[in-house]
Amino acid sequence: MNVHTSLAELKGVGTVTGQRLELIGLKTVGDLITYYPRKYDDYSHVIQIGQLHPGLVTLKAHFSEIKERRVRRGMHITEAVANDESGRVKVIWFNQPYRAKNLQVGKPYYVSGEFGLQRERLQIINPAIELVGDEVHAHTARIVPTYRESGHITSVLIRKLVAQIMPAIVALPETLPAWLVKEAQLISRTEAVAQMHLPASAEQLAKAKERLGFEELFVVMMAAQINRAEAMSVEAIPIPFKQKVATDFVAQLPFALTDAQRKNIWQIYKDIDSAEPMNRLIEGDVGSGKTVVAAMSALMVAEAGLQVAFIAPTELLAQQHAETLAKLFAHSPIRDRVVLLTGSVKPKAKADTKARLKNNEISIVVGTHALFQESVDWHRLGLVIIDEQHRFGAEQRQKLHAKAEHMPHVLCLTATPIPRSLALTVYGELDISILDQAPITRAGVDTSIVSPNSTKQMYEAIAEQLKAGRQAYVVCPLIAESDVLQVASAEKTHKELSQKELKGWQVGLLHGRMKADEKDAVMRAFSAHELDVLVATTVIEVGVDVANATVMVIQAADRFGLAQLHQLRGRVGRAEHRGHCYLVMSDSKAPSKRMRAIASTTNGFELAELDLEIRGPGAIYGIRQHGALDLRIAQLSDTALIVKARSAVKSFQRRGEDLIQYKQIAAEVQRASKLTYLN
Ligand code: ADP
Ligand code: MG
Repeated sequence: MNVHTSLAELKGVGTVTGQRLELIGLKTVGDLITYYPRKYDDYSHVIQIGQLHPGLVTLKAHFSEIKERRVRRGMHITEAVANDESGRVKVIWFNQPYRAKNLQVGKPYYVSGEFGLQRERLQIINPAIELVGDEVHAHTARIVPTYRESGHITSVLIRKLVAQIMPAIVALPETLPAWLVKEAQLISRTEAVAQMHLPASAEQLAKAKERLGFEELFVVMMAAQINRAEAMSVEAIPIPFKQKVATDFVAQLPFALTDAQRKNIWQIYKDIDSAEPMNRLIEGDVGSGKTVVAAMSALMVAEAGLQVAFIAPTELLAQQHAETLAKLFAHSPIRDRVVLLTGSVKPKAKADTKARLKNNEISIVVGTHALFQESVDWHRLGLVIIDEQHRFGAEQRQKLHAKAEHMPHVLCLTATPIPRSLALTVYGELDISILDQAPITRAGVDTSIVSPNSTKQMYEAIAEQLKAGRQAYVVCPLIAESDVLQVASAEKTHKELSQKELKGWQVGLLHGRMKADEKDAVMRAFSAHELDVLVATTVIEVGVDVANATVMVIQAADRFGLAQLHQLRGRVGRAEHRGHCYLVMSDSKAPSKRMRAIASTTNGFELAELDLEIRGPGAIYGIRQHGALDLRIAQLSDTALIVKARSAVKSFQRRGEDLIQYKQIAAEVQRASKLTYLN
């Protein structure tokens, strides 16, 4: 037997069971080996009947008084009495008609199950039993694994199958270098896999999880390091720092930079004045002033005679950025060298812009990701700035470099804080800095949780704000499955609000299905205060900046992720007026822990940690979809293990080891390093 052996060859797997196993992805012994348990119940302590306490228990007992009967609706009940020296206790099985036949009176059994109240008396309900003395007991008197079950594929069945494939598990090859297993004080791979399925003790199980979790983290971090090394191996053009350019720019700003902005800009100037390409991510809460940091980076590059691509997540935001840059550079000679190049720019203007780009008459191009699909001939691209994204994928990077002699520096900006565990693992190829100080002009936001049947007060409060000359956003429920449904719901909300709760006010509508110029017109009207209220789908999630807006209503807020809610909330209270965020629940149940958390703090990092804990990295960072962070055993909350794996990656590199020697790890690293990041 080996990993390729079909499960159909195991005892107890007939045609039907074989097909059912296949349906959940279990075809071979190898599949079953990595079908790790979902949870474990500790039945390892055998107690006496005299010591029984409600909960999960294990006895060593023999049975007497076996009875079976049928009760209403064909339910079948088997009852027996378990006895040991210390006493007797009733045992009951529901719908397991084979029990009575199989029980051997007088023989000792391990009995593992829940001792609890059933029909007003304490009994042991549906326990697993195994004869004492049978060589492996898989279901009783030990730590018993529970697997993901599916119809007839129960944990009991899987445990029986796993017991049969032990020879294949014992023969599993080691995947990590022997010196590393030793250095990191890990147990062997085969030992770990065996302990995952049949743990001898809680300690052994912890060691098994550590070993396999370590391997997962090692792979992910190795991939990140390889990406980093690759990104560094190409040359960038160093951008010389010109002090006067920086101070002149700062002098004409209508505000003083925060210390955090100053520190970040300084760091970037250091980064880009090097032939090693910068690959930096700036994390700064909504409203922390990332745009100025980006603008000052762009300025220095433009001054060096190189070009900058400034990428926004949407056309709307690209337009806004172009306008912001025009204002920021109003007193600078590069003012006329900034252009917008998006899908909705007319073909002729586009062609003209491209020609000017090629001739180096343009320094900064603001666009969306589509810019990289366009056949743009850069004169010399020196810097790529990506707004509201965590990273620039390895593939995108390669594409850019394929076209040019030099690699541009890359700066990513995001309002979604990345927890430290992720920063160390999947984001390991990036340098990360934090913009952790809001400009003092921010008035801040109050957050309230609103039950769906008591929105009346909320709308009254909103009307007060509108009367005071402020504006409001109403974000419609997130309907992930369907764009169409989401638009329909936005249209309905728009109609209802204009006719009822917010009658008399100018209410606009914005959703993802509108054409770019329609969206643009609505957004402009809102910016110009021709609209009081903007009903929108999540298209407004990122970046939109209307200082006069103070109200953010989020419908069915419980369907959103914390980070997303935090982003939306950050749209208001940006300027001198205090913001009000209303999280309308989708039902009148008590609000969840998540909702209470977002209402209680505006600290984005805290929320990101919490979001990560609750929803996992895949849901938040779109990582799993790309198959890069397929952590099944390692917990991102296990910082100690992350640190251990990180130092192992360093050891590995210091030793000059060649990954190719470790075939399986190499293949996994390769898969992990392919992650690109466009969502
Ligand atoms: P974000 O980090 O969310 O992208 P922005 O760059 O859009 O934030 O900045 C939010 C607002 O704060 C803008 O109106 C910007 O002009 C303003 N701003 C940025 N830096 C400062 C500062 N140091 N002092 C006062 N206002 C600032
Ligand atoms: Mg921004």
